Amino acid sequence: MTSSASLPPGPPSDGDGYLARLNPEQRAAIETTEGPLLVLAGAGTGKTRVLTTRFAHILLTERARPWQILAVTFTNKAASEMRERVSALLGQAAEGHWLGTFHALCARMLRRHAEHAGLTSSFSILDTDDQLRLLKQVMQPWNVDLKRWPAPGLLGVIQRWKDRGLTPERITPADDTDFADGKARQIYQAYQARLLELNACDFGDLMLHVTEILRNRPDVLEQYHRSFRYILVDEYQDTNTIQYLWLRLLARRTDGPANICCVGDDDQSIYSWRGAEVENILRFEKDFPGAKIVRLERNYRSTAQILGAAAGLIAHNDSRLGKTLRPGHDDAQGGPVEINGVGDSEIEARSVCDEIDALRRSGHKLGEVAILVRAGFQTRAFEERMVQTGIPYRIVGGLRFYERSEIRDALAYMRVMVQPSDDLAFERIVNVPRRGVGPAALQKIRAESRNLMTGLAGATEAMLASGALRGKMADQLSELMGAFAKGRATLAQEGHVVAVNTLLEDAGYLAMWKLDTSPEAPGRLENLKELVRALADFGTLREFLDHVALVMENEGNDEGGRVSVMTLHGAKGLEFDTVFLPGWEEGVFPSQRTLDEGGLKGLEEERRLAYVGLTRARYRAVIFHADRRRIFANWQDALPSRFIEEIPDEYAVRKNQSPRRIPQEDYSGFFSDSVFSAPRRTSAPPRTASRSNVVSFSTVRRTREQENAPEIGSRVRHAKFGEGIVVSADSGAAEVAFDSGDTRRVIPSFLEKL
Ligand code: ATP
Ligand code: MG
Repeated sequence: MTSSASLPPGPPSDGDGYLARLNPEQRAAIETTEGPLLVLAGAGTGKTRVLTTRFAHILLTERARPWQILAVTFTNKAASEMRERVSALLGQAAEGHWLGTFHALCARMLRRHAEHAGLTSSFSILDTDDQLRLLKQVMQPWNVDLKRWPAPGLLGVIQRWKDRGLTPERITPADDTDFADGKARQIYQAYQARLLELNACDFGDLMLHVTEILRNRPDVLEQYHRSFRYILVDEYQDTNTIQYLWLRLLARRTDGPANICCVGDDDQSIYSWRGAEVENILRFEKDFPGAKIVRLERNYRSTAQILGAAAGLIAHNDSRLGKTLRPGHDDAQGGPVEINGVGDSEIEARSVCDEIDALRRSGHKLGEVAILVRAGFQTRAFEERMVQTGIPYRIVGGLRFYERSEIRDALAYMRVMVQPSDDLAFERIVNVPRRGVGPAALQKIRAESRNLMTGLAGATEAMLASGALRGKMADQLSELMGAFAKGRATLAQEGHVVAVNTLLEDAGYLAMWKLDTSPEAPGRLENLKELVRALADFGTLREFLDHVALVMENEGNDEGGRVSVMTLHGAKGLEFDTVFLPGWEEGVFPSQRTLDEGGLKGLEEERRLAYVGLTRARYRAVIFHADRRRIFANWQDALPSRFIEEIPDEYAVRKNQSPRRIPQEDYSGFFSDSVFSAPRRTSAPPRTASRSNVVSFSTVRRTREQENAPEIGSRVRHAKFGEGIVVSADSGAAEVAFDSGDTRRVIPSFLEKL
């Protein structure tokens, strides 16, 4: 398994050596340097490569100097990869140019023109916590019912306005909301004014201010028109309105053609929840008259089998432009996509890590291996297993599980519960959620703790008893101390899992996140559930806390690289030799939340995410699904993701790895909706070795299906493929000759007997 096909090309050996390494369509995309150009093409077709080579080509042919090219990527990781690729092409470090994410580029611009936004160039950028604190202050005089309209929700509203390029002045009645009884717009205005007073801006302001400046100051805009001769944009399908406005302003030069080149793939649009509008791609030709559109069809990244699987999957989406993808290189080294059913989520983590260990032993670089998950909470099981087995890993684009702020908060609660004198932990959570404990109150508690020579928690108790703390703050602190006391009692009586759960509930910590309507909040709650789940693996809370301390220490050695663990969203644009895709189960992936909130559109976006996942792999894509997943402290049965069935059989090998672990009686009546009424066998049929090529659903499901195998020759209806006749039926799969002319292998439980 070599990765020669994927190595970045070296420095050009001759005048246009770098062009010789491209196919004719790619070359056309690079040589069309003047005028607007859209490269619309599927995954792995070399869009990013076109963009980087174009960057180098413009420099090498002396069309522009480095600082005259504006290149936008979606993530910092993508920016640094592009920088590396350009440097490799040029044979020297790429310096001095405008290459980065939208936010990084805007921060740089805003520092230059801060005065036009009412700031000075030393303005500070607030993080989410600061933003929230500030917004809450601003909201105070407005008498908003915070239970009904919590501050994080309003922050979300403001952020969405900013994503759409709407300053408070630009909000029309049609954009307005009844959030906070219709006061949202005015609070937004007050919040912006307060930010200016503080000489600060939030993340969304970086783009908003710069775009406003470009809109209102023709002199500044012209300056950029003169300096940016060429604009390059990667992942164009995921730009939101403000990013689009910003690009359009910069690209529509008055002194020459709009030399803007955007590359994108509508099938990889996965950020609509952040306001991305795939329509931006569709109206490119309108925005930039005379635009050329180049399509690339050869995929140089993945084997034909992986491509076939990904194409078969994405074909289930209705709203797409539709593109052809052909394998660009010989794929003798790669096999079909592997789909493994395992008994439960713990076996899943173990299996993935065993596979990685085997790869490592056979000399594969771990830097070429990735585990891509749908949701952040899934990483914990893999992290712990890798720590145990000494596999170096890194969490890309996010914090390691135990470093996330909600997890650290929860750990701090646990620490105070087991050791009231843990002052660091106490300080972290005493005002989370807010209990009105400001710096002055904390100062008093600290002084009392020195006086009494006790910890902060002890001092607080004493001050509450003596009446030294009063008012609402005192009430809330009493509740907190009560929650700790109850937690300790529960710990002794009912064990640590219940105790931690009670503590987080009673202290109002879980409620804080439940009330939070920001987009991150559900993920944080999932992480907290996962944390409580993890507790169950340890005998005592102390053991667990010690274990966490050890996990946090994991540094591993870097030789051969580290396994990348990240979300599917974070993996966009990247590639690896081997990609593990765990948790392909209904409810996890597609995510239940997206299905509930987004309906069919949401499902299509999840499917695009699955497509992104599969197409990250060069040679090997390994999907896992578990029959049972432990969510919170409970085991929940899981069904394989519908995406698994959507992968065409010819590109997949399906294995069920685990022995059945669930007693059959657990499932009596579980599939009572079965449509076949063939007589039941009393015992499960023997498991045969020829399983591997058979459509696999969960073990339990398959057994039941075998019991109820459709009769050969019977007439059936499939929800998707219509009516047909069963031509063969074996363990878990039936071959049906459909009236449409297609013969397909399908899962019997999806068939209705006619
Ligand atoms: P994505 O949609 O996932 O962002 P992409 O279209 O940007 O993918 P690239 O990452 O640019 O695709 O290219 C995929 C892989 O194919 C890279 O390893 C790249 O170096 C390689 N590649 C691109 N074009 C060619 C070519 N003409 N010959 C050989 N390899 C190529
Ligand atoms: Mg790319």
